[in-house]
Amino acid sequence: MDEALIAPEAADVPLGLRWLNSFAALGPAFFTELRPTPLPSPWLVGLNSRLLDELQLDRAWPTSPEGIDVLTGNRIAQGSRPLASVYSGHQFGVWAGQLGDGRAILLGEIDTAAGPQELQLKGAGRTPYSRMGDGRAVLRSSIREYLGSEAMQGLGIPTTRALAVTGSPAPVRREEVETAAVVTRVAPSFIRFGHFEHFAARDQTAQLKALADYVIDRFYPGCRTTEKFAGNACAALLEQVSERTAAMVAHWQAAGFCHGVMNTDNMSILGLTIDYGPFQFLDAFDPGHICNHSDEQGRYAFNKQPNVAYWNLFCLGQALLPLIGDQELALAALESYKTVFPRELEARMRAKLGLQTAADTDRELIEAVLRLLAKDRVDYPIFWRMLSRHVAGEPGDPVRDLFLDREGLDAWLDAYSQRLGSGDRSAAAHAMLRTNPKYVLRNHLGELAIRQAKLGDFAMVSSLLRLVQSPFEEHPEHETLAGFPPDWASNIEISCSS
Ligand code: AMP
Ligand code: MG
Repeated sequence: MDEALIAPEAADVPLGLRWLNSFAALGPAFFTELRPTPLPSPWLVGLNSRLLDELQLDRAWPTSPEGIDVLTGNRIAQGSRPLASVYSGHQFGVWAGQLGDGRAILLGEIDTAAGPQELQLKGAGRTPYSRMGDGRAVLRSSIREYLGSEAMQGLGIPTTRALAVTGSPAPVRREEVETAAVVTRVAPSFIRFGHFEHFAARDQTAQLKALADYVIDRFYPGCRTTEKFAGNACAALLEQVSERTAAMVAHWQAAGFCHGVMNTDNMSILGLTIDYGPFQFLDAFDPGHICNHSDEQGRYAFNKQPNVAYWNLFCLGQALLPLIGDQELALAALESYKTVFPRELEARMRAKLGLQTAADTDRELIEAVLRLLAKDRVDYPIFWRMLSRHVAGEPGDPVRDLFLDREGLDAWLDAYSQRLGSGDRSAAAHAMLRTNPKYVLRNHLGELAIRQAKLGDFAMVSSLLRLVQSPFEEHPEHETLAGFPPDWASNIEISCSS
């Protein structure tokens, strides 16, 4: 289907949104303006009412036929200036040259209760940056992104959001023929490290500077006034991004989240988790777990993520170098990662342990429990939830049943108990139950929702969305979704194909 098939009467839809479109004001070096390519007979697969409410957007329009058309890219909301942005990047450690939004189309930026937010349609058709791709996303991967990003949000991890998924019967060829879907993503900005790399690689310093100014003015205004780095705003920007990235990856490691494809074009300049492809929340704790079936070398294995993030920041530093103008300053700005990441990770792990103060012995306590979990491949989310119940003093001791090395665990529990102290543990237990989720978007749960959705039943997509948006609450009617993964879960293969 092509643009000519947009019915002439399909005028832009007046949705009452206030469009700001600040990225479009950067000028044509940064993007190509174009309309999404329509899809036939779209329907709503999922609608994130919670996000609509957070943004204080009207709940009615997304369910109307015009709204569904807008969410699918079949019609344009009045005031939106759709475009595909250009970026480059390093993929699997290798310079890939020009990439760009090959299938995501930025509708523009709207004014919301949560500040200006960009709306982007992923899977909305080919763009000048599609290379060999078809510009589409399949239902399977769109549901994974929709649930994955909201699960991260539910856990308090910085992320792009997902407002809706629409589906269409249009066939899309992957390993097999699947059907098309479109995810409406929401974030203050979708600018990636790769946007900077793009202009740096081409020696387009004026554009590089315009981009840095845009990002600093909108998101990091403090960089203009800091006295650090001799008032060098771009060095300060690099430091800020390093710190946000460090904090984000610390969250990932504590939550057991594998991103799976940490290419520099998949790294947000705002330190948001972005690009939900082959991601996975760990079941059994395996530090070397590789969630991306296409990642044969294990470059993006779970325990490699912190170093890869630093490598990616180094690429960003290199891209910003013409603006920073001093290699020593750039290196100094990157140094912050090395202090912020371990500090943040320790803070996250301490929270998982219910420790409200810091002690020198905490690092060893954390490393020791991770060693035990790894040795017996213990289920990561269930361990933390059971430990929380153990601290709450609930009867029985199921946490021991998770381990083969009971002696090792007992010794660790003794050390942990001493660290917690002899006083009232209810505050620690309460905090742990607000930190260690009961409901996690495990691969097999997503897979079950996808299987049903392929048959036209979206009930599980909705129920999983609700669960992962409040993952610390008890949901007695969904108790079975908090259990161990079935045997077949370990055979699910998730690749870059999406
Ligand atoms: P990803 O690995 O999903 O981050 O994608 C890497 C690059 O390939 C990005 O520039 C995407 O826009 C592009 N891409 C991925 N899938 C497609 C597709 N089906 N059609 C067009 N471009 C795509
Ligand atoms: Mg990407």
